[in-house]
Amino acid sequence: MTEQKKPDVPPFAERSYCGELGESNAGKSVHLFGWVHTVRDLGGIIFIHLRDVTGTVQVVVDAASPQALKEAASSLKSEFVVHALGPVRKRAPEAVNPSHPTGTIEVLAESIEVLNDSLVPPFPIDSPEQPGEETRLKYRYLDLRRDDMQEAILKRHTCVQTMRRYLNNHRFFEIETPTLNKSTPEGARDFLVPSRINRGRFYALPQSPQLFKQILMISGFDRYYQIVKCFRDEDLRHDRQPEFTQVDLEFSFVTPDIIMREVEGLLADVVRDIRGIDVPCPFPRLTYDQCMERFGTDAPDTRFNLELRRLDDIFANTGFNLFKSALAVGGTVKGIAVPDNGTFSRKTVDQLADEIRRFGAKGLATVRFTGDAFDGGITKFLGDGEKAGLVHRFGLSGPMMLFLMADAAAVVNDSLSYLRLKIARQQGLIDEDALNFLWVTDFPLFEYDPETGSYGAVHHPFTAPTPGCLETLDHLTPENVATVKAQAYDVVLNGSEIGGGSIRIHTTGIQSRIFSILGISDEEANEKFSFLLEALRFGAPPHGGIALGLDRVMMLLLKRHSIRDVIAFPKTQKGQCLMSDAPSHVSDHQLAELSIKTVK
Ligand code: ASP
Repeated sequence: MTEQKKPDVPPFAERSYCGELGESNAGKSVHLFGWVHTVRDLGGIIFIHLRDVTGTVQVVVDAASPQALKEAASSLKSEFVVHALGPVRKRAPEAVNPSHPTGTIEVLAESIEVLNDSLVPPFPIDSPEQPGEETRLKYRYLDLRRDDMQEAILKRHTCVQTMRRYLNNHRFFEIETPTLNKSTPEGARDFLVPSRINRGRFYALPQSPQLFKQILMISGFDRYYQIVKCFRDEDLRHDRQPEFTQVDLEFSFVTPDIIMREVEGLLADVVRDIRGIDVPCPFPRLTYDQCMERFGTDAPDTRFNLELRRLDDIFANTGFNLFKSALAVGGTVKGIAVPDNGTFSRKTVDQLADEIRRFGAKGLATVRFTGDAFDGGITKFLGDGEKAGLVHRFGLSGPMMLFLMADAAAVVNDSLSYLRLKIARQQGLIDEDALNFLWVTDFPLFEYDPETGSYGAVHHPFTAPTPGCLETLDHLTPENVATVKAQAYDVVLNGSEIGGGSIRIHTTGIQSRIFSILGISDEEANEKFSFLLEALRFGAPPHGGIALGLDRVMMLLLKRHSIRDVIAFPKTQKGQCLMSDAPSHVSDHQLAELSIKTVK
């Protein structure tokens, strides 16, 4: 058996990367370190695709290679870790693979050293097909080797670098705030951490750095950012994670306009670096009321039309009982008109009506417009004036299907915004490549809960009311509460809220007033945030900020279906890490040290 040629240099330092090799390296001898992606033994000649973080390259052991090298190569299996050494050479024209980035070259192996072997992976790393999610999460280290996960993690790295560069260039300071602290009022449940040395006391993991970033403004660091983990112990119904990453910003001496412009610049840079396109700035702006009126939601997807139209005036004197009774009790009639592509059978409409029951909808009325007349559905209840009104309001010309609803405004809005999106998806009306950013402004400051007769903060209790609304605070009623607007804004991308923020209250007088409306007693306020309230008395500058959800931004930019696909080590819907098996039981000794008894 002939000896393999041994490298005579310390090889790690001389490393080349598989995916970076090209024709310009032809003739150069390279040290490659990576994993065997695939190996094909064609008898006399063995092709190995070697993979590292930059991609793959073909390594060849041919008929003329020494016997020991051939033996080493034929013992290779998928996912073995190897060091290959040899010259780069151009491939013969008939062997060029134009669809592969390194397809014009290959590396002729002079030596192949196995640095470690591998068990057979539970799923193939080289297949574009995704294994089941449970398997992926259990073997996350292998899942992360797959192309789409490598792309997600590397693009996320790029995104974070772009953000830091932008923010550093725009005079922001990156400052860390504590992870072990008191509860922050973002409205979710806290994760608690028992203190061993302060028996019976608990830290709360931050739901956001809200109070600390405000304090930093009071300390004079007039532009702050942090790319920071936040924790909310919520039921993970939607695509949420118990821990997630926020891009958290705060500014002193600022207006909503300044904040919005900075965020637009930041996101435009990110989109350019991740997707290679320019997004038009400034982003369109809609008020909360306009959003609800036109789309039925405060996070509208504006990549398609199908806007909601209010029809109260058209049906003011209707004889149609369903509409009449809803209007009589202060409800509203709204509808959408969608292209009639012949798919709306009785059955599909019944199914849609069924789906919106979850929003409290009791019924869904339909009527077909054929191009010149109404047909089917509620046609027999429509007077001539109502028909003319519908044609005009929806601008009907070609064949359309109208979905109409009468109920309390919230039920109508929730149901129609759901139908609008569902039908747009079914009819392929959404341009999946589009990135429609939008600002939503002028949110209500409070929401009224008729069951408890109390007011809650829509954003958080430190959000400043718009100056014109201050007087109403003194005679607030459930009827006028919606007119009190907050200096709050959300940024929405393709129908998902990706961030939100506000101008903050910076005087104790208004802050106490808001606390008392929210039913937060002086005692409770003092216990929870006395440090902020006190700090506000020591020359707090006017300030405001925003936080962006990094996971969501990445998911949307990479067109992934779940935020789990852009997080290296996510939790399942039940908040578990299938790889490490967290959360886990702890020993009685650990519990005793913390003075904790668990209730079985
Ligand atoms: N702290 C807020 C949040 O986490 C964002 C902000 O107001 O800046 O939603």
